[in-house]
Amino acid sequence: MVRYEYAHTGYDINEEGGEDVLTKMNLEETLEIMRLQQDAPGVVEKRQTKREQQDIIGQAKFWKTFPDERAAIAFAEKMIWGDTPWCGRCGGDNVYRVKSGKPMSHRCRDCKKYCSVRTGTVMAETNLPVQTWLFAIYLMLTSRTGVSANQLQKELDIYYEAAWFLCHRIREAMEDRTPFHETTVEIDEAYLGSKKRWMHSNKKKTINNWREIKAVVFGIKDRETGRVMAYPVAYGHDGDADTLLEEVLTRVRPWGEGTTVYTDGHPAYRELNNYGYDHDWVDHGIGEYVDGDVTTNGIESFWTSVKRGHHGTYYFISWKHLHRYINEMAYRQSAGPGNGLETIGGVLKNMRGKRLTYKKLTKGR
Ligand SMILES: [Zn+2]
Repeated sequence: MVRYEYAHTGYDINEEGGEDVLTKMNLEETLEIMRLQQDAPGVVEKRQTKREQQDIIGQAKFWKTFPDERAAIAFAEKMIWGDTPWCGRCGGDNVYRVKSGKPMSHRCRDCKKYCSVRTGTVMAETNLPVQTWLFAIYLMLTSRTGVSANQLQKELDIYYEAAWFLCHRIREAMEDRTPFHETTVEIDEAYLGSKKRWMHSNKKKTINNWREIKAVVFGIKDRETGRVMAYPVAYGHDGDADTLLEEVLTRVRPWGEGTTVYTDGHPAYRELNNYGYDHDWVDHGIGEYVDGDVTTNGIESFWTSVKRGHHGTYYFISWKHLHRYINEMAYRQSAGPGNGLETIGGVLKNMRGKRLTYKKLTKGR
């Protein structure tokens, strides 16, 4: 088990930039995982099929598709409302278009309030054009490792604070907790953090086990669709076996025709067969990474991209916002390479019922 624990210590959120903790990563182990991924059943093949399916759009095509605010709003309405407009406040579809478009594009006969496609989404309470939202989403998805608020500020020509808030609301919309069912999933967890400078100096002396101060991130990858779900489950302490088991039970439906779960040898997952899962595992402790179909290399490659993302793009990730960064990385990973309209539209669909105020963002979760 000891070896297992250290296998993940390379995934480290670099709070202040500077020193590259990557060098601590067991390079040979990473290379071994990457090599095995080539051989892992299904993984490479599935990815290529997905790539072909993506209707990739470049910037020229983006501006052709969304030349003005009207086109952007029409697209958003199609994605968020579907065929009939409905009220984001009360959920009723007794909604009509306001001729003047003021103060909003629609009005609800049930709650008597004005509304638009932004109502009841993370786009509410903002003056940024929908077109700007779409371009921001486009940029966040196109870049392999994401864009920082700083880059976004320049690209969109808006204030830094507005760009920062915009990024976080888009990340909030990228959160998808729909459970997995009737498929094959790989489950794993990674430990982020461990910087001594994260802690107050008087506390440093009392900590012997540095793993205890990491954020534990739990992740699932659907091997058939490539979809990834990941989020932190524990901060500043170990994510115990019970926590991890509970996450599996919540996120993966055991029933249906054969939901197959592959994990490593972590004790949290040992009893999954008793909960109705078809479960098998590889023992990283003895250097086993692939055993027939059984491997967690797919989700491990996601941890690798998380690591790449925060080293390449984000210099500062606080625990408070960590789950949103992970949302973004998981969404990008699920979408696969390239960036189609479907992927941008998926973010819009996910905006329904989500809200993130500036106060909530700055004052805590
Ligand atoms: Zn209403």
